[in-house]
Amino acid sequence: MPAGFLQQLKFHTRPDCVDESNFKRFYVLSLVGVFGLIVHILLIPGFLVIGATHMAIINLISVPIWLIGLLLNRRGKHTLAVYLFTFEVICHSVFSAATLGLDSGFQFYLWSISALIILHTKLKPFSSFIYSCIITFLFASLYVWFGQIEYTYAYPNLLPLIHFLNITIANLPLAAGLSMTLQLTVKQELKLRKLANNDSLTNLYNRRYTQNALKQQTALANREHSPLSIALGDIDFFKKVNDQLGHDQGDLVLIGVAKLLKGSMRSSDIVCRWGGEEFLIVMPSTQIDSAFEKIEKVRKQINQTILVNQTTNKASVSMSFGLVEYDCELGLESTLKLADNALYQSKASGRNQTTIAKVSNNQYQALEPRPNLPMHADTN
Ligand code: GH3
Ligand code: MG
Ligand code: MG
Repeated sequence: MPAGFLQQLKFHTRPDCVDESNFKRFYVLSLVGVFGLIVHILLIPGFLVIGATHMAIINLISVPIWLIGLLLNRRGKHTLAVYLFTFEVICHSVFSAATLGLDSGFQFYLWSISALIILHTKLKPFSSFIYSCIITFLFASLYVWFGQIEYTYAYPNLLPLIHFLNITIANLPLAAGLSMTLQLTVKQELKLRKLANNDSLTNLYNRRYTQNALKQQTALANREHSPLSIALGDIDFFKKVNDQLGHDQGDLVLIGVAKLLKGSMRSSDIVCRWGGEEFLIVMPSTQIDSAFEKIEKVRKQINQTILVNQTTNKASVSMSFGLVEYDCELGLESTLKLADNALYQSKASGRNQTTIAKVSNNQYQALEPRPNLPMHADTN
């Protein structure tokens, strides 16, 4: 067998012409192709032994067809490979049924091939349904057309075993293909969910996800009368970082802050990139005092460890926070507004601090804004 053809049997490595998104399809098709190829080669001596020389010849012709299918698959022509494998299995099954009879069980390979169509993703769901129906209709028709064909070859006592083996072997690519496709679907679903729920730069939850999560958390807090603290944080003088050091450096700061925030909070807390350089932290079952302690600890840590310019080790990043405890009387929207007001208060009082918002007759109050000197981001 030429070495070039043997190369087509490799399916663990992705060829350049197969793009990342098609790798799993390439992999499953390769497995099916190699499996089909091996079965066809092994059956050649089997057919010769029972005296079905015509079937051995058909198998000899089939071997290059499976190799061509593998080659097409490796060249990125997955759809063509599916069609070729399908064509081969249909012809072979019909021919076996017509000459060996149905007791040999070669018609069961039609079941495997009817499921292979799911690898042809360009086909519309209705078309693939119709395709599968046609193949199973063909399967059923074989019983009408060739039901009377008697097995007239050697070793008829082995027929039940051959029938058993054919059903078992035909099921293997079907089961493997379906489980891999399920795995692929689940993986893609997770990927899509991550894309929809997470911010691509920082990997934190995005605003949309958090808005939904907030609705659930506030409902839980209402029902169980449990405390729920919310902190809104904003990087101080972030515009200067971008202006003086460039957008890329700014992105690195955002990533660093996000990592520290995420790493410092409890796994039940929701850390979100609320927008731009603003972060929202939702702390379920947390009273405002302990939330304040926690946020202050994180704020100081950010100020001590995150540097604006990592190459020159100069100027640390600072953040201002507004903190609020959810109040069911007030509702979510007003609670968030209070957090925003408290954040504004932190900024107005010199930045690099946390302000607690308190509800008093539906009026915002900022409690104990920590006196602090205004911070200036020295990025030079
Ligand atoms: P303050 O202390 O009052 O918050 O000042 P500030 O400069 O941080 O606030 P301002 O709202 O003026 O600037 C925010 C900047 O954040 C402006 C915007 O270009 C930048 N920004 C928003 N999103 C991104 C991002 O994804 N990457 C980078 N590098 N910059 C961003
Ligand atoms: Mg800012
Ligand atoms: Mg801002």
